[in-house]
Amino acid sequence: MGRTILKGGRIFTGRAFVEGGAVLIDGGRIKAVYDRSDQCETRPGDDVRDIDGMIAAPGFVDIHIHGAMGCDAMDGTYDAIDTIARAIASRGTTSFLVTTMTASIDDTYNAIVAAGRAMKRGTSGAQVLGVHMEGPFINADHKGAQMESLILPPSMDAYRSMTGEYGHIVKRVTLAPEVEGALEISRYLHKNGILVSAGHTGASYDEMRRAYDAGVTHTTHLFNGMNPIHHREPGAPGAALTQDGWTVEVIADTVHLHPAILKMAWLCKGADRCALVTDAIEATLVGDGVYELGGQKVIVKGGQARLEAGNLAGSTLTLDKAVKNIVEAAGIPLADALKMASLTPAGLIGADGRKGCIEQGYDADIVLLDEADLSVNGAMIAGKWH
Ligand SMILES: [Zn+2]
Repeated sequence: MGRTILKGGRIFTGRAFVEGGAVLIDGGRIKAVYDRSDQCETRPGDDVRDIDGMIAAPGFVDIHIHGAMGCDAMDGTYDAIDTIARAIASRGTTSFLVTTMTASIDDTYNAIVAAGRAMKRGTSGAQVLGVHMEGPFINADHKGAQMESLILPPSMDAYRSMTGEYGHIVKRVTLAPEVEGALEISRYLHKNGILVSAGHTGASYDEMRRAYDAGVTHTTHLFNGMNPIHHREPGAPGAALTQDGWTVEVIADTVHLHPAILKMAWLCKGADRCALVTDAIEATLVGDGVYELGGQKVIVKGGQARLEAGNLAGSTLTLDKAVKNIVEAAGIPLADALKMASLTPAGLIGADGRKGCIEQGYDADIVLLDEADLSVNGAMIAGKWH
């Protein structure tokens, strides 16, 4: 693979904009970022691209995505993950966590094994950074679209049966911290460098304080799948938004959350502590119709995914759209929006240092966005265009 040079346009490094600079990519990595494009010398054979009218930003990192293009992580196959990886790369997502949901121990194990295979073999699109287990240690009262009959009480035995020899690829676990046994497992996960996230939870403000002390530091799709804020009982969202240390993620499709609530999350936590996720399901990038999620029928109409009972069941969002939404509907500055889709989520799962920035030494994961409407013009993954 030869060298690639992007020049002209604007570069968002993950921290700041560089106008009229250049990026040198070599061997799948960012070799250098120049403040002025004339500082970057070209050699014969270099692939030099003029990105005038475009923004080069760090590729998006999705730490909560179940599926796309008719495939779901719970299909438990390499091919399903590869299809998802290819589909989301077309929308600028360059790495992601394969996200499982509440299912039997065997089905969960199979899904994790498939994710392990995709990490080892690589995909034809976005890279798999590991697994996010959303369930089965959740609160049935806040199950959302998770299958109630398969919810389990938190236990290390169940966790070990589900992860087997693939424990090292689990980067994130969503659980309900108020359920008996959840804090013990949280302490273990946190000690092992796994992001523990409160979700599908009925935790009170005080329970969230205790959860934080046990290593639960993130919140899964803030406001969705938890008690709402009440002025006398701020609940999980009130705790996560106001207690220091907590990080949050939002589904910025303007269906799961009103734009004002998206803005509120950003005002409370800042771009460093608020990540964009999709929670996307298999209908994503396919269209309206009848689908399945975690063993339940899902009807997608006008892009909104719901169970027959009406509960929202994931989304059909892509991260490029999420960025556009929080800029246009919530009035969040573009630099913050881009960071919330790249460096912030990468940092949450310990992948910062190689993902989420256009800086020397980082993986060459880049999305090219049209300056005018933020549509995706191309994505580079480890130095290769997709
Ligand atoms: Zn989810």
